[in-house]
This record gives sequence, C-alpha cells and structure tokens, in this order.
Amino acid sequence: MLLFYNTLTRKKENFRPIKKNIVKIYTCGPTVYNYAHIGNLSAYLFSDLLKRYLKYSGFRLIDVMNLTDVDDKTIKASQENDQSLRQYTSFFIDALLEDFEKLNIIKPKVLCRATDHINGMIDLIKKLVNTGHAYQAEDESVYYKISTFKDYGKFARLKKDQLKNDASGRISNDEYKKEEATDFVLWKKWNDKDGEICWNSPFGKGRPGWHIECSAMSMKYLGETLDIHTGAVDLIFPHHQNEIAQSESVTGKQFVCFWLHRGFLKINNEKMSKSLGNIYTLKDVLKNVPNPLAFRYLILISNYRLGLNFTFKSLKTASNTLSRLQHFIRKLSEINNSIIESEKDINKIKVFVQNSKNNFKNAMDDDLNASEAIADLFDFTKKINNLIDKDKISVNGAKIVLNFLQEVNQVWGFLKFNEESIDDDLRKKIEYLIEKRNEYRLKNDWINADKIRDKLIKMNVIIRDDKNLTRWELK
Ligand SMILES: [Zn+2]
Repeated sequence: MLLFYNTLTRKKENFRPIKKNIVKIYTCGPTVYNYAHIGNLSAYLFSDLLKRYLKYSGFRLIDVMNLTDVDDKTIKASQENDQSLRQYTSFFIDALLEDFEKLNIIKPKVLCRATDHINGMIDLIKKLVNTGHAYQAEDESVYYKISTFKDYGKFARLKKDQLKNDASGRISNDEYKKEEATDFVLWKKWNDKDGEICWNSPFGKGRPGWHIECSAMSMKYLGETLDIHTGAVDLIFPHHQNEIAQSESVTGKQFVCFWLHRGFLKINNEKMSKSLGNIYTLKDVLKNVPNPLAFRYLILISNYRLGLNFTFKSLKTASNTLSRLQHFIRKLSEINNSIIESEKDINKIKVFVQNSKNNFKNAMDDDLNASEAIADLFDFTKKINNLIDKDKISVNGAKIVLNFLQEVNQVWGFLKFNEESIDDDLRKKIEYLIEKRNEYRLKNDWINADKIRDKLIKMNVIIRDDKNLTRWELK
C-alpha cells in the first residue's frame, strides 16, 4: 500500500490516482529572475524522487512544472540589464535546466512559461469576475474576493482573523487598492514601472498575478482535478491556498487530491536570506564538493517532510559516503572469473537481494521514508562486502547485486554505473599510488613504500595486501 502524507488532511493516506494507472502531477517552479538557490533545488529534487518512485511502482506520469517569467522581480531585473523580458528569463531557464541535468533531475514532460499562457489566465479571471468571486477595484486591478470562498484559510489551518497577521510577504506584494486587506490580485493594471511589459485584457492593459498562473497552467495540461500537487512548505500559504480558492471557485470540483510539501532547507540552522549572505546556488555547492550528485544524495536521504539543516560539513560527509558506494560498485564490477562460488553462496546473495528489495519498497511505500531505505542499503552493502572479502562472490553473483543496485537507482539516481564520474579521477590517483608503492615494495624500498601508504591513509584509503594483489577501499 502506497501511503503519502497529504497536507490537505494532515494524514497519511493510501494513494490512488483518479484514472487507474496515470498520475497527473504538478510542481510549482521558480521565478526565473536569478539562479535557483539550493532551497528551490531541494524542492525539485524531492519532486523528482516522488515521480521516480511512482514510475518504479508502475504508474505512468503526466508531469507539469511552471516557470514564473513575469512578476515585479523579472521585469525589474530585465530592465536593469537592458534586455527583453524573454531574453532575460531564457538565460535563467537554461541555467535551471543545466542544474537539473547536473543533479540528474528528470525534466518534466511539460515545462511551461507563464507568459505563454496569458489567455488561459484571462479566461479564468473572466469566469471569476462573472461568478462574483473577483472584482475590479478602483485602481483597475482585479482581485479575488476571499470572503466568497467558504473555506478560505482551512488548507493552511488558519482562521479568518489570523489571515491578516499570517499573510506572508508575497501577499503584501499583491496589495494595491483592494476592498479587503487579504484579497489577492488576479490581474495587475499596467503602470510606468512595467515599461513595455503588458497584455490587453477585458479589464484593461496589465499582467496576471502570480497565483492565477498555476491554476491556469495546471488545469490546461492536467484537467480540473490533479492527483498530486507538490511544492516547498512555504508555498502552503498563501500561494497554494489561493490556487485552491481560484480553481475550485471556477470548477466547483476538488482541485487537488494529494498535496505533498517538502520541508524547509535551513543553512547552519538559519533561514536562507540575503542579509545573512547564505543564499547558495549549485555553483557554491560545487566549489566545495565537485560531484553534484553528492548534493542530490544529501537532499534525498533525509526525510522530506522534516526539512534539512544544510551545512558544508554535511555535504562533505555525503560526498564521502557516496564515494564509498561508488567504490562498492567498482569492486563488484572488477570481480574476475577466477572466483567460483557455491550454489549455497549464490542463494545467499539472492536472499540478501530479495530482502533488501522488499525493505526498499516497504520504506518508500511509507511516505517515501528515504532514510530508512538508505539505512537498509548500507546494511546490504555490508553483507555483500563481507562476501567479497571472503572471495565468495563470482561474476554471476556480482551481476545479481549490480542489477539490484541499478534497479533502485532508477529511484535514487545518485549512483553511477559507468566509470566516467569525477570519482574516477580519485580512483586513478589511488591506483597510481598503489602501483608505485608495489614497485617500491618489490625493490624492498620500504621507506618510500611506507611514505605512499601514509599518503593513502591521509586520503582515507584503506589498503589490504593480499598475495600479489593490493585491495583498497575508502574509509
Ligand atoms: Zn504555484
């Protein structure tokens, strides 16, 4: 049974899509005025894990992610850089896709720009105005009237009188001349600051608000009711509450069956903020560890709902752990034909694999309990390492283990099975040093041989001399 914690009910629920085998899933994407920070990326990594696990569980997906390419920030930044809005935002969309590639995030089937869907947004706003859920104020902007939505605030577990105090900065961006402080903007009337950026509409020249774009684009590609909507936890209010209000006011149907939110990413126990100078991008991460998959590993193995306290130390630890897993894969790939295991040994390996497969599924079925799943994987590698050390795994046995690792890596996506990774440089260096050391040993030059051994120890390499072969692994 596949269970997800649904923000809508604040409970773990049995997941089933509306249409038997197809999951319609929407993820709130970034505002493309700058490079994505690691908080954004952690939310997309979570959504990638979720989608990969759904696929692994046999579902087909239609997945959509929006790109907010028009708002106060994108307009201002494009003007300051003397570029068209399209040109300016395209640069950061490309940069986002590069980050996706480095982090092995599968590109969503539909990646849609807000500015390509203005007509759909205008249609929705027209419907909201016609049904009395929205009004054009004296400043000529159009606002959603939250008092017309019976359960406004329920999704965020906020009472009506709390709304004003708890409204985040995003809502105050929307405050122009509305009737109620909490009403939010659907269509913002053009002003000088917008320059050339505007569209014609029945409400006059202007541009859409942020919230309406997600309702319009998700419904265009996925229909009136989505199976899953994901995003970072800070989007619950007001953004997701507003998406619900707008969409359900128009369709009269439930907008989303399952809402899944990724917890906060803190940096050294502090909130990411400009004033603290701790808004990191993937580039900053890569200055500390060269393998981007180490960041993927760090984000994925923590429980997504709890959020994560990111430190460069924990990143480094993640990188070392991932190197050890890569080393394990290499050891398995390098097992040679000279070992012939017994029937008993091969059965043992099959049992280990089957148990680990079951444990993976049980952990992930339980609201993507990745920390439990990864703990089991380490248990498994320990058992297999034990067999390798005793020469009890042949090429056949290794193949069974590698196939299993490849299978779970369809979900994890942080392991590499070819030898092109950055770890490869490290491997070459280690193997070169071991070869040199063995040359000295052959010449009985123990001083130089030991010098190299000490160097390897400093690099966290454990070496074991076994007959004519020197085996090594990372600590
Ligand atoms: Zn959204």
